[in-house]
Amino acid sequence: MSGGRVHCYLCPRHCHIGESQSGFCFIRVNQGGKLYSLGYASPAALQIDPIEKKPLNHFLPGTRVFSLGTAGCNMGCFFCQNWDISKSKSDQVHSTHIPPEDIVALAIRNSCPSIAFTYNEPTIWAEYVIDICHAAREAGIRTVMVTNGYVTREAFHDIYDNVDAANVDLKAFTEGFYGRVTLTHLQSVLDTLMWLKQETNVWFEITNLIIPTLNDDSNEIRHLADWILEHLGPDVPLHFTAFHPDFKLRDIPKTPPETLHEARRIALDAGLHYVYEGNILSGVADTFCPGCGQVLIRRSWHDVLQIALRDGACPSCGLKIPGRWNASRIDPPAIVKAEEKLGGEYDALNL
Ligand code: SF4
Repeated sequence: MSGGRVHCYLCPRHCHIGESQSGFCFIRVNQGGKLYSLGYASPAALQIDPIEKKPLNHFLPGTRVFSLGTAGCNMGCFFCQNWDISKSKSDQVHSTHIPPEDIVALAIRNSCPSIAFTYNEPTIWAEYVIDICHAAREAGIRTVMVTNGYVTREAFHDIYDNVDAANVDLKAFTEGFYGRVTLTHLQSVLDTLMWLKQETNVWFEITNLIIPTLNDDSNEIRHLADWILEHLGPDVPLHFTAFHPDFKLRDIPKTPPETLHEARRIALDAGLHYVYEGNILSGVADTFCPGCGQVLIRRSWHDVLQIALRDGACPSCGLKIPGRWNASRIDPPAIVKAEEKLGGEYDALNL
């Protein structure tokens, strides 16, 4: 652009970045009129999680997911629970250089059938995400975006044509909340959800974190559920999760369990088939058959206790349950090969 600025159109912020400056997300920088991604191959958080923690309840249940995130974020949520990395610049966090193919080898070595881009917003390190996806697909490993859904039309297919699953945070259902509390806009996130539904084969679920007084109004929850039903259909799983005071919202109390129970009741009454409660001990985490009510997957917190599905269907009434139910097996020779490739290089990570 004029004056040596560069235009980043990866997310709807459309940052115009001056020479030696970074965009809002901190990790995309203008150096000499070129746009560089400082997040590439530089994860600042690495962990092996249950897939239920993402949360995904209809995608490879009971498996472990190799999870990574970098510094920075394109939203400014006052309630961020990973603000130590999301609000940091890349030189303020401890990161490890790991090329895409080594991420895949680490996942295989740790018997994880999938890799999640999570903890901070993966859209802002899309080039690394896409390269990991390519390497993962060759190795039969699935990939997951855990995302705020704040991505442009121009970048959407570059990313989502390569991933297998997503959990999209729909943080509220009012523009006022999005503007004041996340410093972004609601409509872009709704657009992403519709593109996912209409234009991809990505399996996706939705999370709505309920914050007392800010987005817990029952009319708002009803509108959110109605919108999902009308635009995405009844089979997209919806997770209501509890807020814990953090970052800039330390004066608001935790979400009472009754609020989540009520939200779940509203969404089920609206016609959604799979509605879950998360981040509370008494939360409803089991999957029920919407046809006959049979418990299909029994969970305790993030643990899967029992899977009763038969070939992806209810064993009582035979109703097909939407999801991706079968993880590819990681054979011992593949693990040996991954170990040989990695040598001892990342042993200090203590995964
Ligand atoms: S990805 Fe980062 S630099 Fe690019 S538009 Fe979004 S916030 Fe700005």
